[in-house]
Amino acid sequence: MSEVVEHIRDAMIKGELKAFYQPQYDSITSRLKSAEALARWVRNDGIVVPPMAFIPELERTGNIAEVDWYICEVVCRLLKRQIAEGGKQVPISVNFSRFHVRESNFALKLSELVDKYELSHDLLEVEITESAMVNESDRILDWIKSIRNAGFSVAIDDFGSGLSSLSFAKDVPADILKIDRSLLSGNCENEKERIVLECIFSYANRLGLMTVAEGVETREQLEFLRTCDCKKIQGYIFAKPMPEEEYIELCKTHTKIEKTADILQAQAPASAVNMLMSVIFKKYPLIIFANLTRNSFYMMAYENFTSTSCPSTGVFDELIMHGASTMHPEDKEIFAQTFAREKLLQDYKDGKKEVRLITRQLGDDGVYRKVETVDYFVKSESSNDVITITLCENRD
Ligand code: C2E
Ligand code: CA
Ligand code: CA
Repeated sequence: MSEVVEHIRDAMIKGELKAFYQPQYDSITSRLKSAEALARWVRNDGIVVPPMAFIPELERTGNIAEVDWYICEVVCRLLKRQIAEGGKQVPISVNFSRFHVRESNFALKLSELVDKYELSHDLLEVEITESAMVNESDRILDWIKSIRNAGFSVAIDDFGSGLSSLSFAKDVPADILKIDRSLLSGNCENEKERIVLECIFSYANRLGLMTVAEGVETREQLEFLRTCDCKKIQGYIFAKPMPEEEYIELCKTHTKIEKTADILQAQAPASAVNMLMSVIFKKYPLIIFANLTRNSFYMMAYENFTSTSCPSTGVFDELIMHGASTMHPEDKEIFAQTFAREKLLQDYKDGKKEVRLITRQLGDDGVYRKVETVDYFVKSESSNDVITITLCENRD
């Protein structure tokens, strides 16, 4: 057994292996939302040994799994204590290394441990790194599903540190995406880096994933993350990882009296835009983004609109034919003429800003309803393509 492994085994027996807790805050209200448990070896001479001094070796020798379970149990004890003392508690995430993906009955084992302390499962989050997921890609989906079925949340750690693709993250049924701090280099002053971050957050938000930015140190980073609609912040700007007693105090004081910030003042532009979008989606059950130049479209929103369902993306000319087929017989022709692609391109050339038409459309219940279709022309920022945004609204 290597020296490091021996030291850590010994530290576990003596209770010198501890969990430090780093809080995670709501990016807008700065309220305490959750925390991450991070291993520390607190030697009897008071020296605190960081995980990087022992975790890589434990991983190499395959001994990391027992440390993870040990830390997880330390976390359960802390949560139990907070409940017993009547204090506030927030969910805590625990790091699990890739070895656990191969552990049979991981979810069951976790459930048994958490149940031993009579804790609600939503107080525990399982963190697994993006690289571990990629390395275990054939097992990972079932592993995550089993954990979530047992009522725990799953976080993808170190997202963006380089190994996985966006498409992989889409297939992983995780709850939380933790954005690696390497993506926050400097003060987010490089435009290309900002674009990458904006895209990652927009993508995560649209997939319904909770987002946490790690390693946030500066005011500039924080402000930028707010505009990206990043939900939670973990980093030195708010708090460093701290020992248990300090964390318990923080939970007691912090969650008790924090008053809600004025939402309009606190509101970041990007999340304001998202709210605006949700209102627009409510008002218009059908919204189509079309590139007339390229004869393509996709549905931005499509809700129980007509009796016949329509492909969510495809060829624009076919979309208009499909649209016409759902109209009242007397409206079919005018619809097809008004929204024919060549005609719209000509309208755009003629300087028109929009094209609108009211038709009768067949609903799910077999009844015709008046529907207003408005095509707004917008200029593509990146090409000379002619784009339309179509908003459809019931007029009955
Ligand atoms: P991690 O999971 O990515 O944890 C976040 C690391 O970033 C922590 O380092 C934390 O102290 C550090 N950090 C947080 N905010 C800031 C910031 O604003 N600036 C900077 N520069 N750093 C920040 P820590 O505690 O040294 O842990 C290092 C790594 O060790 C963790 O990275 C995790 O991969 C691993 N680790 C820690 N505890 C455990 C454990 O119980 N099990 C396993 N398997 N791995 C663990
Ligand atoms: Ca982590
Ligand atoms: Ca991380």
